[in-house]
Amino acid sequence: MKKAVFPGSFDPITLGHCEIIERGLAIFDEIILAIGINADKKYMFSLEKRKYFLEKTFENYPKITVKTYQGLTVEFCKKEKANYILRGLRNPLDFEFERSIAETNKKMADIESVFLLSSGEKSHISSTIVRDVMRNNGNYKFLVPPIVKYEK
Ligand code: ADP
Repeated sequence: MKKAVFPGSFDPITLGHCEIIERGLAIFDEIILAIGINADKKYMFSLEKRKYFLEKTFENYPKITVKTYQGLTVEFCKKEKANYILRGLRNPLDFEFERSIAETNKKMADIESVFLLSSGEKSHISSTIVRDVMRNNGNYKFLVPPIVKYEK
């Protein structure tokens, strides 16, 4: 039974996340979409909203569950008995950033990180850009799953 945690802020979930999650299903028996709660961070969408968007998007996927956690991702993995962390890589910057986290997690808790490269047509999408488009009344429909709606 291969269980992975896909951690993130998901503020909001994008089609970039969806692609990595869908492809992760070919590798893992179960994927937990884990929303990390960081009290110091300001989010555009409330935790309830972010969780709702994830649950709705993957409601017909029996191998996927949605949870929230506080603190270290590896501690959450241990609690959930997941031995893998799934992450997406868009560019070299993502790689450099992720590499040190993955090495630390491996040393700290023997949790293995698995990276999938985002496809060319999704690699430009980030939650930050989506939020910017939303704030400025742009069309964000081609960046996020249909359930995601921004109301000012
Ligand atoms: P974080 O707060 O950890 O940056 P995000 O919600 O932004 O969380 O991202 C969670 C994961 O999804 C990360 O591994 C990130 O690299 C990946 N990801 C985000 N956008 C994309 C994309 N367009 N293509 C592939 N992976 C992505």
